[in-house]
Amino acid sequence: MSAARGHACEGSGSTPLLCPSAQPTLAGAVLVGVVDHASGEPELAYLEEPIPVTEELLALTSPVRPTEVFRFAAPCQQGVCAHWSGSDCRLVERIVDLLPATALTLPRCAIRGECRWFAQSGGAACRRCPQVVTQNEQPSDEMREAATPR
Ligand code: SF4
Repeated sequence: MSAARGHACEGSGSTPLLCPSAQPTLAGAVLVGVVDHASGEPELAYLEEPIPVTEELLALTSPVRPTEVFRFAAPCQQGVCAHWSGSDCRLVERIVDLLPATALTLPRCAIRGECRWFAQSGGAACRRCPQVVTQNEQPSDEMREAATPR
């Protein structure tokens, strides 16, 4: 992975790093952005502050699943996640390898200091992050390949 800055298993202190494309059912999950589909290409609008997940929040997206229109962050699950290599997140490696950068500058993002993707891949992850939809029902070939564990 060309842009990797080395792996990091934990954030500051003993706080686990956050996965920025997590399931809202995970303990500690917060809403970090809303996917804008207006242009035809998904683009994440980042919240200024994360919002704790509640049943009411999740109900807002009905009838589609929350992960189709919201992005959630939650503590990285490491060994119970299909993308975990044993020391790193392979998902962000594939994202950086396979997807084009869609942002020229780093998005304003409230979780950068705790984000596993940024800790691992730096700005290369952030410049690709806005196009990521956790539950993408119409992925490009590159997106599908990036999302598939090898
Ligand atoms: S913009 Fe960067 S720091 Fe923020 S969630 Fe995406 S990869 Fe992580």
